[in-house]
Amino acid sequence: MVAEEHVINENMNKSDIKARIEKLREEIERHNYAYHVLDASDISDAVFDNLKNELVKLENANPEFITPTSPSQRVGGQPLDKFEKTKHSSPMMSIYDVFEETELKDWENQLKKILIEAGILAKLDYYAELKMDGLAMSLIYKNGEFVRGATRGDGKIGENVTNNLRTIKAIPLKIRQPKIEELEKIGLNEQQSVNVLQKISEGEIEVRGEAIMPLSVFEKLNKQALADNKAILANPRNAAAGSIRQLDSRVTASRQLDFYVYDIITDFGLLNHEAEHKLAGLLGFKVLTQNKYCHDLTEAIKFHHHWEKSRQSVGFDCDGCVIVVNNLGYWPKLGIVGKGPRYMRAYKFAAPQAVTKLKEVVWQVGRTGVLTPTAILEPVKLQGVTIGRTTLHNYDEIKRLDIKLGDTVIVERAGDVIPKIIGFLKDLRTGQEKIIELPKFCPVCGSKTELKAGEVAVRCLNKNCYAVKMRGLRHWVSKGAANIEGLGPKILEQLWQAGLIKDIADLYTLKKDDLLSLEGFREKSVNNLLVSVAAKKEMSLAKFIYALGIRHVGEETAISLQDYLVGVASANNITINIPTDILKVINYQKVEDFFEIDDVGEVVAKSIFKWFKSEEHISLLKKLDSVKIKILVNKDNQNLVLKGISFVLTGSFESLSRNEAKDKIRLLGGQASESVSKKTDYLVAGHEAGSKLAKALKLGVKILTEQDFLKMIGL
Ligand SMILES: [Zn+2]
Repeated sequence: MVAEEHVINENMNKSDIKARIEKLREEIERHNYAYHVLDASDISDAVFDNLKNELVKLENANPEFITPTSPSQRVGGQPLDKFEKTKHSSPMMSIYDVFEETELKDWENQLKKILIEAGILAKLDYYAELKMDGLAMSLIYKNGEFVRGATRGDGKIGENVTNNLRTIKAIPLKIRQPKIEELEKIGLNEQQSVNVLQKISEGEIEVRGEAIMPLSVFEKLNKQALADNKAILANPRNAAAGSIRQLDSRVTASRQLDFYVYDIITDFGLLNHEAEHKLAGLLGFKVLTQNKYCHDLTEAIKFHHHWEKSRQSVGFDCDGCVIVVNNLGYWPKLGIVGKGPRYMRAYKFAAPQAVTKLKEVVWQVGRTGVLTPTAILEPVKLQGVTIGRTTLHNYDEIKRLDIKLGDTVIVERAGDVIPKIIGFLKDLRTGQEKIIELPKFCPVCGSKTELKAGEVAVRCLNKNCYAVKMRGLRHWVSKGAANIEGLGPKILEQLWQAGLIKDIADLYTLKKDDLLSLEGFREKSVNNLLVSVAAKKEMSLAKFIYALGIRHVGEETAISLQDYLVGVASANNITINIPTDILKVINYQKVEDFFEIDDVGEVVAKSIFKWFKSEEHISLLKKLDSVKIKILVNKDNQNLVLKGISFVLTGSFESLSRNEAKDKIRLLGGQASESVSKKTDYLVAGHEAGSKLAKALKLGVKILTEQDFLKMIGL
């Protein structure tokens, strides 16, 4: 029955859990009262359900804390004193909720098992209905006339609100007399038809249904209330409930409620639930036209999915579907469990809100140096996506929401809009919550921050903070470096602003759910991105060194450095497989040793040396180890078949890209340059080779076709 994968903090000890349970109970009771008795709840059903679910989970995991007075142990709703009480002919039951398809399938399996054991199952078919979000009512007709209408109350005893219900136009004061042919058309035999007609003229008929306030009426009344400076109605269901429990029927009449029947309690010997709906229609009641007979559960699930998308179009609040075993003969076999029948389930639509805990707030520096806060949440499922973080925009937003670390917050996601925190539950505070502080130092570069008087934004005082970090990230993913597709500047910027990446290593730990919480990211683009990142975890040592973006180290210098380091490594029996292996090699070196490397002078050598000795970079290399970046080194120098040979590539190739060809050349010890000179050994000419080919011919450089080249590198 539990909807949201609300992760209960594992760090909570028993006394914390007990305190949380007690807080939850108080909060639930307060809302129960506000909702059922005062008809004035200030939180959404989704939030209320979340709180109940959390309580049930905590109680199930810690049964010693269950008490008979816990709200989990009873059905809400007490009759008010202002109306006469009336006992229901049979209990008005609740419907058990399911939230996932799998739960529904489990339910069907359970039904089948029971029916098979009773030796009666042929096949299960269903009747699928929209679940109206209103007030359940029982209507009783004597000799065809409406004599009594009652609220559900506690299920056994409700309130007599007959006079108010008389004002609802959709409730017939007299039952319609159907024609025999009409009854036969919906499957009644002669005996049954006569029985129906008899009960209408001299007997008692009970139907049950839902009183609702149409959304159009709700909006109209609230518009009027605003204009008159009166209190507005919280939501259509509260409004319907409040309207029905008016002492003055004229007020009820002014509220223009609607009413739909979904059950006939009187036994007419009908065979299935669908026929009950049709009969209700023939008797003059409104029944939902959207409801549908379903041959099997798959069809019922389709019905749910369809209306989950189209629920806006029905004109009233609707929070799910009711899926009912159609064959009435099975009902007694399936029976009642606790407070609800086993033969139906309410399959709820995904709620737009959930509650979870605010764990932490992280700050990220932006283009202009402004620090932006991101909320880190205990992961919670919201409309099928697990939400673990969401932006808080700025410090003013934190102040406006008045949230603290450790608060139980309400997260909302409407449609494709990114989820946001819209508030928190004050009564669930324990006193342990911490104020969210403005950072005194930049979390990215460690420089001091500043909050100018009259400004909402706190800034990093290091002007280059953002630029340096972004440049590093862009360089890492670029073609000559790690070459990760799908990570253009805009996407990097977005990931950065969301606080998902602080350095290059974070690119390899991006999570699907985090990406899905970003604007514009869909399942497919997220998968593509994750695949292209994962595919680029291996690179040559030269590429890796180049990709680090060390000052003065270009592609060619990186290759020289690679050759040199590989030599030192093999002389000292070190294998280079992972990023920190480079540190082992460099530890054998003095900065002067680097002077002798081709392309490397004193300035470059110092820059390289400084880079690898910095604490910040050493921890970055460790982090790259931990995300499983692999370095490919041609340990065997004999494999460097292209050592000392220089190539220039021109035109396009069929079997590999130009960059791939360059990689091959470098991996085999060769050099790949951009421009043709006398020093060039070979020009590899692809399709549509242009000026480079002309120049090579002029200089007498040897020309290779793509085929020649592939042969040369052993492909
Ligand atoms: Zn900074």
